[in-house]
Amino acid sequence: MAMQAGFRRETKVDVIVVGAGFGGLYALHKLRSLGYQVEVLEAGSGVGGTWYWNRYPGARCDVESLEYSYSFSESLQQDWEWPERFSGQADILRYANHVADRFDLRRDIHFNTRVVSAIYQGSSNQWKITTDTGECFSARFCVMATGNLSLPRVPNFKGLRAFKGQWYHTGQWPKHKVDFTGLRVGVIGTGSSAIQLIPVVAKEAKELTVFQRTANFSLPSGNSPLDRDFVKNFKSRYAAHRLEAERTPFGIAGHPPPTQFSREATPEEREQAYKARWGTGGNIAFLYAYKDLLTDKEANEIASEFVRQQIRKTVKDPAVAELLAPKDHYIGTKRLCLDSGYYETFNHSHVHLVDVKTHPIEEITETGIRTSHRDYRLDAIIFATGFDAMTGALLDIDIRVEQGPSLREHWAHGPTTYLGIFIAGFPNLFMITGPGSPSVKSNMIAAIEQHVDWIHDLLARIQSTGVNTVEATPEAESAWVNHVNDVANGTLYPLTNSWYTGSNIPGKPRVFMPYVAGLDKYRDHCAQLARAAYPGLKCSSPSAVNH
Ligand code: FAD
Ligand code: NAP
Repeated sequence: MAMQAGFRRETKVDVIVVGAGFGGLYALHKLRSLGYQVEVLEAGSGVGGTWYWNRYPGARCDVESLEYSYSFSESLQQDWEWPERFSGQADILRYANHVADRFDLRRDIHFNTRVVSAIYQGSSNQWKITTDTGECFSARFCVMATGNLSLPRVPNFKGLRAFKGQWYHTGQWPKHKVDFTGLRVGVIGTGSSAIQLIPVVAKEAKELTVFQRTANFSLPSGNSPLDRDFVKNFKSRYAAHRLEAERTPFGIAGHPPPTQFSREATPEEREQAYKARWGTGGNIAFLYAYKDLLTDKEANEIASEFVRQQIRKTVKDPAVAELLAPKDHYIGTKRLCLDSGYYETFNHSHVHLVDVKTHPIEEITETGIRTSHRDYRLDAIIFATGFDAMTGALLDIDIRVEQGPSLREHWAHGPTTYLGIFIAGFPNLFMITGPGSPSVKSNMIAAIEQHVDWIHDLLARIQSTGVNTVEATPEAESAWVNHVNDVANGTLYPLTNSWYTGSNIPGKPRVFMPYVAGLDKYRDHCAQLARAAYPGLKCSSPSAVNH
């Protein structure tokens, strides 16, 4: 239904979902089933989110494809054929498009439409949403499926505009093939994106120079084409696999939880345990070697040293190997990377490693990169410099309550949420995998499905009780924040500077954002809250859901 609002045409619907990645697509499908008119607003020209934007060479998932996929439709998971154990970006994007077509989602998605503001009007209990296309929507509920890793970040280097060559960010890669043949290419960053990209670009480039500030731990992915018989067998027990995955901290089946502490094993047994896990693929298997890898510094150091030794064995130049061997953070406290030939790439004579911790990048020049040590002549620069993660895409939108605080004000000292879904004082607003939820510390499609299903059930309850608004109480929010912090403080995670803590963005408040008790525990907790009629939420009508 459309009406005039000032000079703008306003479209009135029940639910606005922002983002058409895996979160937004499933939210649209699921919330439609309540009979709601749901519209999705998406900045990109297609579906897929992460897999639409991150088209850089080598991009692929680090959770096995048979798991990193929707579980909500048995026929979908039976019909879809993944080509590889860890499928590439193009195949994951093909899957997202298939889902959009199969469930007839496109008719309610507005592409090339970026939301710039979402303002809640208490008088009408409506969210007013405006876009960069000049459109205006009004909806009772607003679901932010804007992604945790969707706001790419190019560091504010002096001189970037002067650079005469081409430059790219991994998170905003062009749709066309970029050909680096015969070029001198510089890559800034050595996170997961760079670690996937470097071996592929090295095959084309004449010279490849990697500018590393912090070395990262990476394990060989052991990626391979999927064997048909293996897949047939897996699919014959798909539902059971999914159930098993639901009962794990990471939302991934097939990895029995560790039963032993590292100190209970002899050095020989530990070496054996790590060797057995090396190269089998999957970071969970490695981090599951012992119970205390992410809580005990000594246990962690032994695992870290095992990986450093593998790097030293792989990289022929001892000085380069030493530079690639991480020594300043605990293994697993940043996303543990999976690679296909990353360390081996540094054995090629045309691949160079530059230590920009010792000699920082000072500026981008017309002809390349200048560090405090020297100039590097480059034809192309790739920024693999990551994202303003977890809060960036949300704070990029002017979210506020009319005559009330803005989200930027509410989060001035870091994000505070209830369950990573609600923000106190912001009625009828839901986040999919927001800060304070397990989200990025798990198989994210599993985390997305859990959030969407839970929100669906809450809205069904609201429908049946005639409630107008639902929001978290400040007390529930603050208790949840304390709990998230308490859990994190029992681990090594907060000791590491990473995008989990916001420390990759200058000036961002340093707060450890994910909830690390595990998706299984979180799932149980959310289910328990639903059974108890949603304590921690307050509703605006007398027939409140929790009354
Ligand atoms: P996204 O996929 O980020 O989608 C959010 C969408 O919202 C985007 O399309 C964006 O354009 C849109 N949007 C944002 N702001 C606005 C706005 N203001 N207006 C309109 N639209 C907006 N996770 C795993 O579990 N396993 C993996 O193997 C894995 N690999 C990854 C590889 C890469 C390169 C990256 C960057 C992330 C990876 N992740 C992985 C995390 C990944 O982000 C999630 O798995 C998942 O795809 C997130 O889906 P989403 O819908 O929540 O967010
Ligand atoms: P990232 O992990 O944040 O890595 C960014 C890199 O850029 C870091 O090495 C960082 O160094 C460097 N950097 C940033 N600013 C710099 C500067 N001014 N000078 C020099 N170096 C600078 O980003 P990402 O690699 O894009 O990965 C983000 C997340 O996306 C991952 O953690 C993962 O969750 C997901 N992802 C997953 C996969 C996968 O395997 N499926 C692939 C890609 C991404 P410092 O560490 O010193 O800051």
